[in-house]
Amino acid sequence: MKTVYFNGKVYLGKGEFTEGFVVEDNKFVKTGSSEEVLLEAKDADLYDLEGKTVIAGINDSHGHLIGLAKTYREVYLMGVESIDDAIEKGKKFIIDNPDSKVINGMGWNSDFFKRGEIRNLTRDDLDKISTELPVIFRRACFHMLTANTKAIEMSGITRATVIQGGDFDYEKGQFFENAQFPVLELISEPTNKEMVEIIKKAMDGCLSQGITTIQINDCTTSGERKAVMNAYKTLFETENNLMRIRHQVNLKDTDEFADFLEKEKKDPTFNTLMQDIGPMKLFKDGSLGARSALVNDEYADSPGNTGIAALTVEEADVFLKFAHDNDMQVVTHVIGDRAFNEMANSYAKYTGEENPLRWGLIHTQLSGREELDLLTKYNIPTLVQPIFLRADIPNVKKAVSEKLQSTSYAFGTMVKEGVHLSLSTDTPIEPVDPFANIYWAVTRKAPEDKEAFYPEHCMSVEDAVDAYTIESAYIEFKEDFKGRIKEGYLADFIVLDKDIFTIDKLDIPSIKVLMTVLDGNVVYKRD
Ligand SMILES: [Zn+2]
Repeated sequence: MKTVYFNGKVYLGKGEFTEGFVVEDNKFVKTGSSEEVLLEAKDADLYDLEGKTVIAGINDSHGHLIGLAKTYREVYLMGVESIDDAIEKGKKFIIDNPDSKVINGMGWNSDFFKRGEIRNLTRDDLDKISTELPVIFRRACFHMLTANTKAIEMSGITRATVIQGGDFDYEKGQFFENAQFPVLELISEPTNKEMVEIIKKAMDGCLSQGITTIQINDCTTSGERKAVMNAYKTLFETENNLMRIRHQVNLKDTDEFADFLEKEKKDPTFNTLMQDIGPMKLFKDGSLGARSALVNDEYADSPGNTGIAALTVEEADVFLKFAHDNDMQVVTHVIGDRAFNEMANSYAKYTGEENPLRWGLIHTQLSGREELDLLTKYNIPTLVQPIFLRADIPNVKKAVSEKLQSTSYAFGTMVKEGVHLSLSTDTPIEPVDPFANIYWAVTRKAPEDKEAFYPEHCMSVEDAVDAYTIESAYIEFKEDFKGRIKEGYLADFIVLDKDIFTIDKLDIPSIKVLMTVLDGNVVYKRD
């Protein structure tokens, strides 16, 4: 099958545009002016792009698709502005999901309530949603939940129950810390069939936002490994119109990695252009919000605290040696400057200055000049999430010195210095929306803010688009056939309703995808 796309504004690479291209089967076979591509019109379908901007399909280089998928079986309560809104969302969920046996909500926070009573949810509030079904609404902090009467009954908790490390208010149906666990046990893990369904829904959502590939860390500890990998196996064996995925794999020790290399890695289902096995994923430190990211100097607002090493240098060596001996790529979560520094130096022991296996660092949020230099010295790619700045700017200002702030989240600078930097959202930590993410990469400020956070680290729009396409393909070793609109490359592309290269940067988050094409097939069309 052949289709000629013409009369568009087609982005080929920095400063380079053309009007059209020809797709044959799953590849671009020609690019050029409308006149040039229409020479191929014989026996081809014609598609008038009507002057719209076209870029390669978005490739999100790090997220948790199963985490995003699970939000489809929960009541999404992030940002609800009143108790009544939370109740309404619960009622609507029951109507939309008539088979649900437990109504599980996540993310409410009374600090964001703007109307009605400003207080934590109670049992009585949730009884208004249902008295027949258990309703469990977790607060955004995860340190508290509220349960309705039915859920409390089913959990077996009575006024007399004592729970180590936890507390509860029986009358109000509020459970704190460990007291949440007996209630949370009512929420079952999804079955294989449910997992396939919700991952498919999550994929449809991604495709509608122009994301044609996502590199995911869903395979974690051993229990989850089996369930998750089985779900992806079933999904790709039974469903169509899927997106491309690459697994970033986190397992408990090198024995389990050896087992994984023997099993999943050799399974043909996980060795296609739609789904394959990527790097070993490691965690070096914690998070900035919890002040558990590993830093060189103590936190300004947490004296004596320099965070935690989830992996010591010695522990990292065990994994890295295994990866090196087995030709595996590695990507590691580093958020603090010390975590960044230690991991880059750990890598260098095995990769030298060339880093042929493209061992990369995910997040790289806090960094001094010394850390930034390690990226170029050891040729280390980064997988970053500019959209984190939305929540992090106030946090960083409280937590670390101005000197460290001034060289942190230095994504534009990394690109200028030649680092292979790819963009991602870490979904469901942040919405998977690529345009909100690009907005933060190029502005580093909220729309209402006067000043950007160290604007010298802003990326250009072209760099951000390249980072989301070409560079995400680079971290997959696929830059020679994926991530560009170019002859011989996979035909993954998206048509936008506005020209991302010329509109006001403030309008970037409002961009909508009109059409998503993956492997030459239309997989999403906006009506
Ligand atoms: Zn992550």
